Amino acid sequence: MTPAEKREDDLEASADNLFDKVVNLCKRRGFVFPSAEIYGGFRSTYDYGPLGVNLLRNVKAAWWRSMVQLRREVVGLDAAILSPPAVWAASGHLRQFADPLVECRSCHERWRADKIAGVCPNCGSRDLTEARAFNLLFKTHAGPIEDEGAVAYLRPETAQGMFINFANVLNTMRLSPPFGIAQVGKSFRNEITPQNFVFRTREFEQMEMEYFVPPAEADRWFQYWLEERFRWYVELGIPERKLRIRHHGADELSHYSVATADIEFLFPWGWDELEGVANRTDFDLRAHGEASGTRLEYFDQASGERYYPYVIEPAAGATRTMMAFLLAAYDEDEVAGEPRTVLRLHWRLAPYQVAVLPLSKKEALTELSEAVVAALQPCFMVDYDVTQSIGRRYRRQDEIGTPWCVTVDFKSLEDRAVTIRDRDTTEQVRVPIDSVVAELQARTEHC
Ligand code: ATP
Repeated sequence: MTPAEKREDDLEASADNLFDKVVNLCKRRGFVFPSAEIYGGFRSTYDYGPLGVNLLRNVKAAWWRSMVQLRREVVGLDAAILSPPAVWAASGHLRQFADPLVECRSCHERWRADKIAGVCPNCGSRDLTEARAFNLLFKTHAGPIEDEGAVAYLRPETAQGMFINFANVLNTMRLSPPFGIAQVGKSFRNEITPQNFVFRTREFEQMEMEYFVPPAEADRWFQYWLEERFRWYVELGIPERKLRIRHHGADELSHYSVATADIEFLFPWGWDELEGVANRTDFDLRAHGEASGTRLEYFDQASGERYYPYVIEPAAGATRTMMAFLLAAYDEDEVAGEPRTVLRLHWRLAPYQVAVLPLSKKEALTELSEAVVAALQPCFMVDYDVTQSIGRRYRRQDEIGTPWCVTVDFKSLEDRAVTIRDRDTTEQVRVPIDSVVAELQARTEHC
């Protein structure tokens, strides 16, 4: 066992501890704040602070890069969050998007029955009501009159935006199956028990892609996307042993799916879902086609065949995934006999890639440091920190996951060079100021 693995095992042994430490760090260092805190908070809603918003944007950008930018056959979409009831009637959500709700007869808390194994987590009573289906859709009214005709819903998933725009995208983009439509955005579910920090909230962000394929190829593409998506988490730094794939049993499948597998992460409370990959068949296109009267089939000019494509959907949570990256990155070690907390985030995800640290506040150093910041800013997110000892500043950057610190010292004024310090190895190299950008670009694969 390497020292790093040993440390990770120690951290796992105190898993609750890890959860508390990460939640604490998020609050203390400006990643995530409880929403409306000055009014006592609003249960299970969160605001992303200056560092959290960078991290979350980086998670979404890494997803977009891998799903859209690096592919020729996948295009993007940004659909409306407010939608008319017709969409959710056709999709089946009005009828079927429900969780089983039970109430404890003893303390009157309400729970999601499938998550509590027959015992009230609040008071331990087994005296629970029969489960009833509780619909998770958020309902509102559009316009000044609150009658039935004005009912609108906040989308509970981004997926339907892709289905109802299927014909629009097909007609404008010259695509043929297999092809995908990707979207990142907010979704809303009136969860019975939001919990575990940003793992389950009522307002959250999703990253979903609908991949339209000839029906005969659906099984192959299902397997393909499961593997691709698994690889994405590993490439961005989650150790493989903290990830697993779990196939759903027949009794667990959603109303639209014939096969679903979850990519799960080992959270401090156990294995739980990061992402679901589903074979949604032609359920959605057929349902919207029939309900709207618009043809949502694909016409293959070569064969003269008209058919509803099947859909393979990798559906991930951006906010939930962000939390997994934080948990996986959290580490504690020692540098020169001093304990430190370090977030070993992939450079693509870190809130800042670089911090510029002038050794003193003397004017000549400030001037030079500001020039270094200005050179780096077009390419990187840069933090600039002048307060306290250099050791303290390194610790602060380690704790928020900044991969590289650039230190400007008095010698820099003479040799026009600076020191680049690596977060993980703490190794330092001297680099001419003129090549700092190129050096860091090389470390970030030039993109
Ligand atoms: P669960 O069983 O945990 O309620 P689900 O299987 O209904 O989730 P999907 O409908 O497959 O979830 O949604 C796709 C992804 O969206 C999930 O894997 C998760 O990452 C994210 N997600 C779903 N619900 C929430 C939520 N309430 N808060 C945060 N992320 C969520």
